[in-house]
Amino acid sequence: MDSEANPMEHRAFDPEAHRADLLAIVREIHELPDHGETIPPRMIEGILRRYPRDGRGFYSRAQIIAGLRHLAATGALELDEERLARRIQMRPVRTQSGVTPVTVLTRPHPCPGRCVFCPNDVRMPKSYLADEPGAQRAAQNHFDPYLQTWNRLAAFRAIGHPVDKVEMIVLGGTWSFHPEPYQIGFIKRCFDALNDFGRGIDGRDRVGNLIQDFSSLKSQEGLSYNEAVSSHLRSHLGSEWSGEGEQSTWAELELAQELNEAAGCRSVGLVVETRPDHLSVEEIYRIRRLGCTKVQIGFQSLSDEILELNQRGHDVGATREAVTRLRAAGFKVHAHWMPNLLGATVESDEHDFEKIFSDAALRPDELKIYPCSLIETAELMHYYESGEWKPYAHDELLGVLVAALSRVPRYCRVTRVIRDISSDDIVAGNKLTNFRQIAERELLRRGGRCDDIRAREVRNEFVEIKDLELRETNYSTSIGQECFLEFVTAEDKLAGFARLSLPDRKADLEELKHCALLREVHVYGVATEIGTRPELRAQHRGLGTQLVEAAAERARNAGFGDLAVISAVGTRSWYRRNGFRDGDLYQHLSLA
Ligand code: SF4
Repeated sequence: MDSEANPMEHRAFDPEAHRADLLAIVREIHELPDHGETIPPRMIEGILRRYPRDGRGFYSRAQIIAGLRHLAATGALELDEERLARRIQMRPVRTQSGVTPVTVLTRPHPCPGRCVFCPNDVRMPKSYLADEPGAQRAAQNHFDPYLQTWNRLAAFRAIGHPVDKVEMIVLGGTWSFHPEPYQIGFIKRCFDALNDFGRGIDGRDRVGNLIQDFSSLKSQEGLSYNEAVSSHLRSHLGSEWSGEGEQSTWAELELAQELNEAAGCRSVGLVVETRPDHLSVEEIYRIRRLGCTKVQIGFQSLSDEILELNQRGHDVGATREAVTRLRAAGFKVHAHWMPNLLGATVESDEHDFEKIFSDAALRPDELKIYPCSLIETAELMHYYESGEWKPYAHDELLGVLVAALSRVPRYCRVTRVIRDISSDDIVAGNKLTNFRQIAERELLRRGGRCDDIRAREVRNEFVEIKDLELRETNYSTSIGQECFLEFVTAEDKLAGFARLSLPDRKADLEELKHCALLREVHVYGVATEIGTRPELRAQHRGLGTQLVEAAAERARNAGFGDLAVISAVGTRSWYRRNGFRDGDLYQHLSLA
């Protein structure tokens, strides 16, 4: 009966015409016993069957949520709108980790990399394919940041998800290779959309005449991706490669950020993706100024030989340096690693993976594992045709992934295994998108288990705060000691964690000199509305404050007088309430 909300269906559906039915349905749903979880589909369907829709089948869950929103907006609902929406929501897993992720893509743009495995679809930012779900959404929105953000928020809201706490994830090629005016303009427009959506303002019509058209971009015989895209941008936008409405000033961005601090949709995280060799100290300062809190960075391999064979254009030293700088500036590091690259073997990949966590200059906080798949437009095709590269057989890939998952330390979160590419795009290589489950099952069968964060999250379960234990994992990094603090249940389920860096070297950024760094505080539970206080879920039981206190105590004991936090724009007020004062790009807690 359900599918993800179709915006067209949503638009065509007039809730007012079905007011009486919708009110009755919503009231019945409200009467169902509430154990805090999403209502199982069969129970909702049982109710919907009692209210057939105009002899044309049944209402969908998306329509019920649209009706709920309408009834609340017109004052006809005396019940708690958000609580009901949460109970009816579709695909609850999306927001179970506590925050609603909104992914947007930058427009097609040249990339300094020449990686042989990278797709070359000129209609997309480098490395993306036109039929990936996120890429399709971006193209439908002409890669405009405002439209993408606003429409994604609307889609989430239409399927019952809360949108008050949002992690903005900006993907596409190499972020740091975009001109600064485009970067500022892009992020500013994301904030504008968050601010507008939170206030119920729909500014999409105003974007209309500023949209850049990329639909005419086509591959041209003899032209590389970079050449074709550069020539398009130059001819449509001039030598600055930025169109009207695409540029903003720092002052305009800072104003939009300030508005976001108290907005209905707040950015509680902002992520960009870039290459290791484009993370100078100046660049790190810039992305922090944009409001970023996390960087996705392509390691791909930890062998200079493999990197060179695959024409990555940087060595492992650049990766180590980039991670060191990011950590020293308090960023969370989300690494990408690719087994089965040109020149790699099962044995070399198992050894390569070990380095990710044995090398103190790496040890990322999050990890995507994307085994190399062959895409027709990638240069790897030549190596495949000449027999120099071939994909691993099922069992070989299984062996690599099982070994990898068994070695992930408890402080790291494996966010994805296998990229979500349509099997039609894969010429050769794994086409199973559920390979993670297959590998996890095999790991269990072999008597092992994956201890990563994702495997241990409490998700939407109830936890008793008195049953939680504060556990500490210490490890060394290239900037000093790292302290991973976590609240766990007796079964080692994770209810919340904090990442604390205790540097023993001089910071690159003046503001962070002599500071301990609070890089992350995360508490699990459904992403409930800021300001509401559900009694039982982990997220609102003061665990965040307790984690900050534990980190402060740990930093004080290590001799630090200042704890700096890389707060997101939307969490600044929370940190102020917890005693932090505003600095330039960070907030600070005096430990004296
Ligand atoms: S750096 Fe990334 S986007 Fe650029 S070519 Fe390499 S893989 Fe593709």
